[in-house]
Amino acid sequence: MSVTEEAETIVEQFNNHGAEIEQADVQSRLVELVEEYKVPLEEAVNSVESQLFEETPVAEGEYYGDSESELLEMGNLAQYGDEYWGDARVQVVELWEPNSDAVGQVGLVGDETGTAKFTAWAKSDLPTLEEGESYLLENVVTDEYRGNYSFKLNGATDVTHLDETVEVGDQSVSIDGMLVDIQDGSGLIRRCSEDDCSRTLRNGRCSEHGEVEGEFDMRIKGVIDDGQTAYDVVVGRELTEELGGISVSEAKQIAMDSLDTEVISDQLEAKLIGRYVEVEAAPIGDTHVANEISIADPSGLEDALERAEAMQAQQS
Ligand SMILES: [Zn+2]
Repeated sequence: MSVTEEAETIVEQFNNHGAEIEQADVQSRLVELVEEYKVPLEEAVNSVESQLFEETPVAEGEYYGDSESELLEMGNLAQYGDEYWGDARVQVVELWEPNSDAVGQVGLVGDETGTAKFTAWAKSDLPTLEEGESYLLENVVTDEYRGNYSFKLNGATDVTHLDETVEVGDQSVSIDGMLVDIQDGSGLIRRCSEDDCSRTLRNGRCSEHGEVEGEFDMRIKGVIDDGQTAYDVVVGRELTEELGGISVSEAKQIAMDSLDTEVISDQLEAKLIGRYVEVEAAPIGDTHVANEISIADPSGLEDALERAEAMQAQQS
């Protein structure tokens, strides 16, 4: 919509609810925001609406109650594109540590269609969302970064706590491709043993609790390439034990014998890089957490390797 059309809509909506505002006034406010302050039109509309809620007797609830906002499907945010405004009816699945002071809250929410990452700006001063609780988030906006979709809460967002629990649908995806990399932080790792802390230790230290005993764990942070996309995939302890054919206690013994924990990730690399795998994984933010992983057609690969070796032997 154009600035004029947006202004007309605002005037009509407010005046239908008993306000007496004028087109020229609304339009000049929008023009100032868009042209002088380079605010995107949709944000300018939200900003002017917020001003008008202060200045007129129109209540925010009844105003937005009228304009039928679309309920965004968390599992399919990509279908809306970037900067699309709508509502979200979600359960908070997980909250993450914000990596910037500008971010008030960041985490994962879900509805029946799947999950999505959300960010709430600190300056928007919104009510704090709690893990496991369900909310109606009105007036949120989608965001695209490197092909990954999330959404943002902002100053125009209304947060309503819901008494009912929004079910979070399973959104696991299948990835079939080649394991092309095993990244730092893979293999035998130690996690902080303090209650409610499972941060991985660096040189025996937790970033929160300092030097701690720690508990051994094993994982693979891998990259799987299906020929079109490279997926970051995290494989947890049990699946890593299965895939690597080595238990955590065996890995611990090997690491102690060689005085080096790196030896385990080296072993995993030697065994797994270049192999085709089939993964069922849940997308969490920019990464995928494996629920199932297996080597695709291992016997076929063994055959291929044997044939390759035989050919090499013939040639030499
Ligand atoms: Zn800790």
